[in-house]
Amino acid sequence: MQRAVVLGGSFSGLLIARVLSDFAEDVVVLEPNLLTAEGNRPGAPHRRQLHALLAMGQLQLERWFPGIVEEMANDGAHLGRGSAVQFYVDGRRRPAMNDLQMIGATRPFIENSVLRRTRAVSNIRFVTGRAQGLLLHHDRVRGVRYTAGTETTATEIEADFVVDAMGRSSRLTTWLTQHGWPAAPVDRMRIDLGYATATFRRGDELPATVIVHSAPGPASNYLASACEPGALAAVEGNRWSVVVAGYHDYRPTADPDQFRARLRRCVAPLQQVANHCALEGEIDTFHFRESRRLRFTGLERFPAGLAVSGDAMASVNPIYGQGLTLATLQASCLSAHLRSGASPREPAWGYFRRTDRVVDAAWSLSTTADLAQPHVTGPYPRAYNVIRWAGDRITEASVKDPVINRAFMNVLHMRQHPRTLTRPRVLLRTARVLLDR
Ligand SMILES: Cc1cc2nc3c(=O)[nH]c(=O)nc-3n(C[C@H](O)[C@H](O)[C@H](O)COP(=O)(O)OP(=O)(O)OC[C@H]3O[C@@H](n4cnc5c(N)ncnc54)[C@H](O)[C@@H]3O)c2cc1C
Repeated sequence: MQRAVVLGGSFSGLLIARVLSDFAEDVVVLEPNLLTAEGNRPGAPHRRQLHALLAMGQLQLERWFPGIVEEMANDGAHLGRGSAVQFYVDGRRRPAMNDLQMIGATRPFIENSVLRRTRAVSNIRFVTGRAQGLLLHHDRVRGVRYTAGTETTATEIEADFVVDAMGRSSRLTTWLTQHGWPAAPVDRMRIDLGYATATFRRGDELPATVIVHSAPGPASNYLASACEPGALAAVEGNRWSVVVAGYHDYRPTADPDQFRARLRRCVAPLQQVANHCALEGEIDTFHFRESRRLRFTGLERFPAGLAVSGDAMASVNPIYGQGLTLATLQASCLSAHLRSGASPREPAWGYFRRTDRVVDAAWSLSTTADLAQPHVTGPYPRAYNVIRWAGDRITEASVKDPVINRAFMNVLHMRQHPRTLTRPRVLLRTARVLLDR
């Protein structure tokens, strides 16, 4: 392949560019707002929210940028392992896992590390510009139209392969339908989630705790009132990044007193931060209306030389921290697709089939849990009541039993497909653990 163009230079776009650098002579990343030296970027408020990178995401990141995790640690990120990584459900702490490591760092820090490594790849270059549409020739994408900076006249760039990594605001569907192509079917689940992230000065109020994640579960019937959902991570610059979440009419606001009050109703480490640490700066809120995925495999026609990645393809409830990891897995799917000898002159069906499997896994985990919220009204998958009942029992058993916990956490960290939780030995052990109580 001579030239590939990636639309969007955020987390997903950078990983896709890295993958394409193995197959194309020239890889262009088109992005209107590249990260500044401070790691900020206009027009993407979700980047200011606490971002956890799941274990599978870390593994995949190392695959594409060997040594990057150590580099991040050298640059000030915190690596939490074993008992320093604390997951709670209904206020009860899960057993620790010695082989689980997570990175404590802000999203701009993680993204900046990936950007630095991507910039170091000799056949990747960055163009500051906003894509305005596709150039199509018969059934094939042959490039992109974009505007640079404040210019109003569009420039064209030819490409053999184009990847949409423009996030949730991608206009790809509009562009394609304007050219007479069908729109991909969309699955949606309205969840009405509110997020609020604050930064606190970090002292020695907690031992080596790096990551804490607290979620509601079956014992509280998933309502936030039993123990507030929230998370914290020790991040670069001696700070705690802390998030609280709530649904529907219980969404958190930017009020510092309310934020502290909610932390005090959360698990012990978050209470400690509320009681002992000074707030730095403003509290950032974010409203996440719906989980959404585009099913490209549901199409009968799709142009050759085009693929989609990251939130532009699927964006699920962020409370489960899957978005970045999903992007790393999609990048690996693209690599597998191109390594299989697939031609960019054909529609990328093989890529879409591969990504369907990983998106299915993320979607089923997050939507099954979301449907337990009283205000979420569907759509329900087939046999939802059975799935929900079994899921609740496995969650209960996982807090008590390290073996079930490992199976559960491997799914949560996207190391295993949720289907693995229905294996007979997991179900039998769950029954034994619960009958023993
Ligand atoms: C509140 C919140 C909390 C989250 N927490 C987590 C978490 O803890 N862990 C986790 O893994 N995930 C989390 N996520 C999800 C994660 O943020 C997303 O999955 C991730 O940002 C997806 O990256 P992306 O590159 O696909 O899209 P984005 O990060 O949205 O980037 C899209 C890029 O495309 C560019 N762009 C847009 N239009 C154009 C155009 N016309 N031309 C060129 N470029 C364009 C934009 O400038 C932007 O840089 C969270 C999300 C939210 C909303």
